[in-house]
Parts: sequence; structure tokens; C-alpha cells
Amino acid sequence: MSFSEQSESMSERKQPVQQTPTGHGPTHAGTTHVTRMGHPAPSVTQPAAPPIFQTAAFDVPDLNVLDQMTAGLASGHIYTRDSNPNHEALASCIAALEGVDAGAVFASGMGAIASVFLTLASSGDHVIMARSLYGRTLQLAERMRQQFGLNILLVDQCSPDQFAKVINSRTRFAIVETVSNPLLEVTDIEVVSKLLHPIPLVVDATFTTPQLSRPCHQGAAISLHSASKYLNGHGDVMLGVAAGSHDMMKRLRETASVFGQNANPFESWLCQRGLRTLPLRMRQICETTVRIASFLVTHPAVRRVYHPSLPDHPSFSTASRLYPNGTGGVISFELVGNGTEIVNRFMQNSPSIPFSPTLADARTTVSYPAGTSHRFMTETDRRTIGITAELVRLSIGLEPYELLESDLRQSLDSLLSQ
Ligand code: PLP
Repeated sequence: MSFSEQSESMSERKQPVQQTPTGHGPTHAGTTHVTRMGHPAPSVTQPAAPPIFQTAAFDVPDLNVLDQMTAGLASGHIYTRDSNPNHEALASCIAALEGVDAGAVFASGMGAIASVFLTLASSGDHVIMARSLYGRTLQLAERMRQQFGLNILLVDQCSPDQFAKVINSRTRFAIVETVSNPLLEVTDIEVVSKLLHPIPLVVDATFTTPQLSRPCHQGAAISLHSASKYLNGHGDVMLGVAAGSHDMMKRLRETASVFGQNANPFESWLCQRGLRTLPLRMRQICETTVRIASFLVTHPAVRRVYHPSLPDHPSFSTASRLYPNGTGGVISFELVGNGTEIVNRFMQNSPSIPFSPTLADARTTVSYPAGTSHRFMTETDRRTIGITAELVRLSIGLEPYELLESDLRQSLDSLLSQ
């Protein structure tokens, strides 16, 4: 049943007793109970914005309909852990934006990634992973290795040859990020997916969003996102999404349902609302980010800036070719000074750019990979992948460039004078 058909059937629902038009109570006192009241009265109009289906379950007319639904002969929803119109609506938006057949929605970005592992790999299988992935994704893989006997092969996501070298008959999938968190390394998805074929390439496109990248058009089997980030864009939702073929999404949804990884209706609804401004937000964020990266390079309190728009970044040429419209709003930079002390001073001197361990909020925020996403690693392991104690990650929001430049200049200048 489509989203609009679903809302129509809701307004045509047979009422158990006659309700007042506002649904506040029965007209025949004593014939019903408050637990049975309150469904919307029939209406010839439809809500202009999609409704929120905040319900755990759906009333099914009878066992015949239940059988038809489970056999795929009638469409609809039964239980929100399995499916809900708000999941379905968001999933169809994501599929359309990614230009693929189907989408799926999860309780978080990690829920989406966990569902991929649980769907595609079993004990003893091999999974190839970029070594510079988001810290929690690496942590999840380590848990899969320890608890379920998966073999995890870490490679440099910028060196396609390394993927080719570790493929074997037990390789079930490979996972990379379009632009890695936090050092912004760019994978050449087309080259890597060709080398892997027919082994599926899974791409975490959180940083680039479907506005800047469409991994399945470059050969990936699954494109996934932490929708808690740019897709929602307002820092108030925890959600994950994936896109790909009908069959692949059906398999992921089944896993999500069994393992309880499904999203809730309200957050799916909020994310769908946020998506409407995605093109505008990404355009402005990308423009400001490139300018802030160039500004940071010039400041004497900054030792090194990581952003693919800068010619000295290792992914400069791949990023210019694959993502001509930008790579999102993240910039990482190292402060001149010593470890956490200098980072703390920077944070304390930046009252208008809060330390908030997330990214892609509407406001600009700062985070500290060594203390948050990559905290579980030893310092030596962090250094091996380039995450130093002085590395700060900035997530550019929607403030005007001039305001941000002045805030950052002020906090960086203060480091020089103390
Ligand atoms: N992938 C990337 C690239 C991320 O940055 C994050 C979170 O920061 C995740 C996945 C996990 O997403 P979530 O926090 O929604 O579980």
C-alpha cells in the first residue's frame, strides 16, 4: 500500500462507535471506553504534510488479510519493528535521491552497518575494510572478529591494489567511506568496485550525501548513511539509511527486523522533513567549508589542514574528479602545540563553536577524534592512521562565512597570545 493510500485508509477507518467530529468522546455514553476512542474522523481532505504513524502495531481486519499480507498478495504494515509508513516514505525518498530501486531505514548509522555485517557475512568469512573508517565501524568489525570469527582485512582505501591483493573465495564484501572520517581520504569507488566484482562493495556515503555522490551508479552494491548527520541536518535525530537493489534492501530490512535495528516513526518523519532542504544546505555548507579550509591553512596556530579541496591533500585529484560539487562540511586540522592541553585551550576559547561529538548539525561544531570516535584505539594505532593528539575535527554549519572566520580567528589568535 502506498503512503497516500495508507493515509486514505486511515481516514476511512470504520469507527467502533460514532465519535464527535473532534474524536473527543462517544455520542452514546457507556457503549465504549476511552482506550477505544480518538481515531481521526473521516475527512474529505488530506494532511498537506505527511502524517506521523506513531503506532507500535496496525489493526488487521482478519486472518485472511494477514495471510494475504504475509504472502505478499496485499500490501500494508503489521508491526512497526518490521515496517511502518514513515520508514517506507523515507526509504523511497532515499532510493529516489540515490537513483536506485529501493531503500531501507535503521535505528542509527551503526544499525545500518551492523545489519550489513549480519546479512552478508557469517563466521569464518572475510571482510575487507578501509583502515581509516569511522572509529565505531572499526570497533564493530573488531567485535565481529572476536565474537563471531569474521576475518577482517584492513587496507588503505586510497590504494585499490591493496583490495585486489586480499580478495579470496571467502571474501563476502568490502566497506569504504566516500570521504573518510576524520582524515577525508577519498576512495575511487569505480575502480575498487570493478576490482571486487562480483563481491559487493558497501559505501558509507555519510559525508557526501546523495546530493554529492551516488555510489551505486559507480558500481557499489549498497550506499549507506548515518542519517543522524546531513540527511536530517538539524542535530536532533538518530537514524541510518541504505539504498540498493530491491533484493538487497529486502535482506537488510529482514535482518533489521529480527535484530531490532529498525528506526522509529517520528525520527523517520523528522529526517524526511530535513531532506527537503538537503540541496540548499549542502550547497552552502560545501562553499563555506572550502573557504574555511583555505583560511585555516594561513593561520600560524594551525600545523596542518586536512581537506580534499587543498592541493596537498592526498585525495585532492580523486576528489576533484569524483566530487566536483564538494565533499561535505568536515575539515580536520592539527593545532601547533602539545596534545590535549592545546586542544582544550582551543575549545575553551571557542564559546560559539561548541565541542559536540557529532557532525552535520545546522550549527558549526568541533570534535576530537582521539577522545571520541577513535578513543578505543591505542595511541600508537591512532598515530598509524594519522589521528594525532592535536587533531581537531570541524563540522561546518549554516552560519555565514564571515561570522565563522571571525570566531575561528579569535580562538586561534588567543592560542598564540597565551
Ligand atoms: N558512518 C560515519 C561516517 C559516521 O561519521 C558515523 C557517526 O558519526 C556513523 C557511520 C554512525 O552513525 P550513527 O551515529 O548514526 O550511528
